[in-house]
Amino acid sequence: MTNLAIAPLADLRKPAILIVDDAPDNLGVLRTMMLRQGYQTFVATSGDRALDIAQRIKPDLVLLDVVMPGIDGLETCRRLKANPATARIPVIFMSARGETEDIVAGFDTGAADYIPKPLRMEEVCARVRAQLRLRSSSETQTAQADRLRMIVNSMDQGLLILERSGRVQYANPACDRYLGYAPEALVGRSLADLLADAPDLGDCAALEAMGGSGTREVQIRHRDGGLRAMDLTMTPMHAADGLFVALLHDISHHKQSEDALQRAAMVDPLTKIANRRHFDVFLEKEWQRAIRSSQPLSLVVLDVDHFKQYNDTLGHAAGDVCLQKVAQALQEHALRPTDLAARYGGEEFVLLFADTPLEGATLLAEKIRAAVEALEVPNPRSPTSPWLTVSVGVATIVPTQLDQIEHLFVCADRAMYAAKAAGRNRVETAIAGAAWDAVKDAALY
Ligand code: GH3
Ligand code: MG
Ligand code: MG
Repeated sequence: MTNLAIAPLADLRKPAILIVDDAPDNLGVLRTMMLRQGYQTFVATSGDRALDIAQRIKPDLVLLDVVMPGIDGLETCRRLKANPATARIPVIFMSARGETEDIVAGFDTGAADYIPKPLRMEEVCARVRAQLRLRSSSETQTAQADRLRMIVNSMDQGLLILERSGRVQYANPACDRYLGYAPEALVGRSLADLLADAPDLGDCAALEAMGGSGTREVQIRHRDGGLRAMDLTMTPMHAADGLFVALLHDISHHKQSEDALQRAAMVDPLTKIANRRHFDVFLEKEWQRAIRSSQPLSLVVLDVDHFKQYNDTLGHAAGDVCLQKVAQALQEHALRPTDLAARYGGEEFVLLFADTPLEGATLLAEKIRAAVEALEVPNPRSPTSPWLTVSVGVATIVPTQLDQIEHLFVCADRAMYAAKAAGRNRVETAIAGAAWDAVKDAALY
């Protein structure tokens, strides 16, 4: 204790040697020798005292006499090894008992080395140095392993160690959250069982053949049956080991918000039906399909009648509610996957009916017109009806490569304006494209 109290700070970085011997002369010689090597020294003349000091100062090494009164060296060593606080301190026995069984007994207590007495000081120093070197490298390794274990255990990403066959050899705790299996339950399973797609990634040989590591977006089958989008990164650990590290990074939240953003970009915020952008993309796709299939494509353009009067009388907020009701009525009539209702701007709506001839589309348009009228939303200052109504134009085309989408719009708009001009709250029709031109030309001659 006194030794510890007076030790200068710099000394604390020097290896500390606890020397235990009941013969004060031996202690003196050993201590001088150890000090000369640049070590800190602590001394004890009995096993009891040695245990006490070892517990308190945690020396880097103990030089321990075997034969002592009271508890002898062997028992002292046993107790040092039984105490977790001192178990890892290397112990070197020093003894005149040089029989094989004495030496074996010494090692059996957990000692690191056994030096015969009389001591040859050069040899003692060499053995102490060797043990200190060993201890420092094993401590470094233990500290590194502890640090790695802590990182892997606290990682947010799922980490798997895989054999070349894809068999799981190790899984970190995060895998539980990622896959729904406790790490132990994953060991022995095959990566292929966990992948809902990308079966080529099920074993690492394919990856190896590709020449190393890589990240792929995969669908992981969670234990709950659901699929999770994840980035899977595989890296060979050691060419010789044939082991791979697989890192799982959950991107489903990111995916969900990406999908939500994409959906939001396609929807009109007021009416929650498709917006103009979505409609244009949809129309382009259906237009190309209609060219290939030579099927008729019908466009319905719909404009609320005297809506300005409505807004001016009942207010903009009430107007907004009206637009939502009209949108709802449209939506209810766009039922097939190839139909789409959209708000195209202000109080103007459009519908596309693919694979639908003019008669069918006109029938649907008439149903929508009637549905809006049947809402019986009062439009007190409308000169044409006590209720809110819509004027509708329908145009149909069997498009060819020569036609343009704009032409279909022009025809539907013209038909809609014809409905306005004819008194509103009605449906007018037009045939567009080559067929329309033919009709028009026939009428001219
Ligand atoms: P018409 O029968 O000829 O179509 O007459 P109209 O009054 O409906 O046509 P006009 O184009 O003169 O007026 C359209 C009105 O629609 C004016 C505008 O304030 C209103 N409007 C456009 N978008 C919205 C909207 O998002 N909410 C509300 N409440 N009103 C809107
Ligand atoms: Mg308008
Ligand atoms: Mg209008």
